[in-house]
This record gives sequence, C-alpha cells and structure tokens, in this order.
Amino acid sequence: MITDTHSHIYSEEFAQDQDAMMQRAINAGVKRIFVPSIDSSYTENMYAIEAKYPENVFLMMGLHPTYVNENVERELAFVESELARRKFYAIGEIGIDLFWDKTFLEQQKYAFQRQIQLAKKYKLPINIHCRDAFDEVFEVLKLEQSPELFGIFHCFTGSHEQALEAISYNMKLGIGGVVTFKNGKIDQFLNQIDLSNIVLETDAPYLAPVPYRGKRNESSYVVNVISKLAELYNTTSENIAEITTQNSKDIFGI
Ligand SMILES: [Zn+2]
Repeated sequence: MITDTHSHIYSEEFAQDQDAMMQRAINAGVKRIFVPSIDSSYTENMYAIEAKYPENVFLMMGLHPTYVNENVERELAFVESELARRKFYAIGEIGIDLFWDKTFLEQQKYAFQRQIQLAKKYKLPINIHCRDAFDEVFEVLKLEQSPELFGIFHCFTGSHEQALEAISYNMKLGIGGVVTFKNGKIDQFLNQIDLSNIVLETDAPYLAPVPYRGKRNESSYVVNVISKLAELYNTTSENIAEITTQNSKDIFGI
C-alpha cells in the first residue's frame, strides 16, 4: 500500500483522462491520495472526484499562498465555513511563496497564521507550501509552535539544517520528484534523516520524477520516488512504502 500525501488530481490537466489516471494509480498500489485545496474556485471539482473515489481520496481544505490577494478575508471565510460544514483530513496547502510575487507577503503571513489556528481548533495537521520563504515560514511556525501544531512540510527542498528545523516543529518532510533530480540537492543528505520523518508525495500535475521530468506528473509515478528512496536508504521499495504509509496514518489519523 502506497500513499501519495499531496496530489492535485482535480486539476484541469486531468480533465481528459481523470479516470484512467486514477486507475493507473490504484493499479500501481497508490490506494490513498491526499488532496490539497487551492482556493474556492477548485472546491466543486475536489468534491466531485472524492464522490467518485471515496475509498481512495482524502481532502484537505485551505487557501494556497499564491492565491492570497486582496480577497484574502473572503477566501478565509470560505475555508472556515467549509471546515465547519464537513470532514477534512488537513488544512492545506498553506504557507508562503515569494518566488512569483512579494506583493502580498503580509497577507500571506496573516493567512498562514490564521489557518494554523484553524488547524489547532479542528485538531488537524497542516500541509505547508514553502517556496523561497524558509525564514518567513519558520517565523510564523515559531509564533504558533505548540504540541498541537503538526503536519507535513510539502515538497521539501531545503538544506539538512532546514530539514531538522522543520522536524523540530512536528513536521514530516513531503518527498517527491525533486529527490530524483540531478540538481535536486536533498538526495545528498536525506538518508541522514530517519525514515520516521518522511512521507511520499507527487504534487501532480507538477514536478514529475525522473524519467518523466518535465512531463505531466500523476500519482502512479510516486513509485519512481520510492525506488530512489530505496536506493538512498539502502532498503527495499516495500519497506519504504510501508513506513511512509504508516507515517501518513499517524499524521492524518486515517
Ligand atoms: Zn500542491
């Protein structure tokens, strides 16, 4: 049993072949797929795929940092009302992204902190998106640090030191296609991080692992991430799949 802890299976990129893509994942053993939210415009598509695959699809709710703008209060109100209305397995994806645009940095920090507080209220894990913003993300985590704060640092791309800092805030590292990249860097220290801190993800349709790098990613390709981790940790693919699925159960409570 393999768990993909971060996959945008509702993306328009899968509009033509969503069922075939899901079937390939399930056939590859990827039977649990955790699905991050972006903003309110994607929610109906998330609910539609959840209704089709209730055994395999587990939804998160949250406002993605690159979608934080002058509408932040309206979007956060939507997140709150959905959380009050039905079950989700995490608050995500939330965080800070300074790669594209720094215009809304203050609003991004505010939305990140508010959503961490919602996670605590609902006793849910968080799923962190951090791009070019480690200092800013750690600053907010420090403000909210508590035994009740836990989750996943999605698509972890930092240094060994930043990995240990993330773990110190009760975060597991979400490892995906980047670990298979020649210049991905995390492959150089990852085996010094205990496997109990690692979960698998694809971030489909983005960041496809080698040999699909540059192409559309999908959940079945998490198998290629497992092979790379088996090599780095000098163990079997079965062992990687089992430990990371157990870690995902500890985080998501299912
Ligand atoms: Zn994502």
